[in-house]
Amino acid sequence: MDIEVDRDKCCGVGNCVEVAPSFFTLSDEDGHVVLLQAHASLDDAAAVREAAAQCPTDAIDVVE
Ligand code: SF4
Repeated sequence: MDIEVDRDKCCGVGNCVEVAPSFFTLSDEDGHVVLLQAHASLDDAAAVREAAAQCPTDAIDVVE
């Protein structure tokens, strides 16, 4: 699975960081999301999908 984030849509709530901290973090500079890994294995797919589902601004795109 491939992961993309739209930093312009991100409002820095941090739901994705709580759900999948090995994939998402927040920038110290602007508080917006930073993608740590652009690809997820099957083992991590559920957590990444959950992070995308919990993003209030639809800033996370998952490409299966
Ligand atoms: S859940 Fe969405 S809005 Fe919140 S930090 Fe992550 S990408 Fe940004």
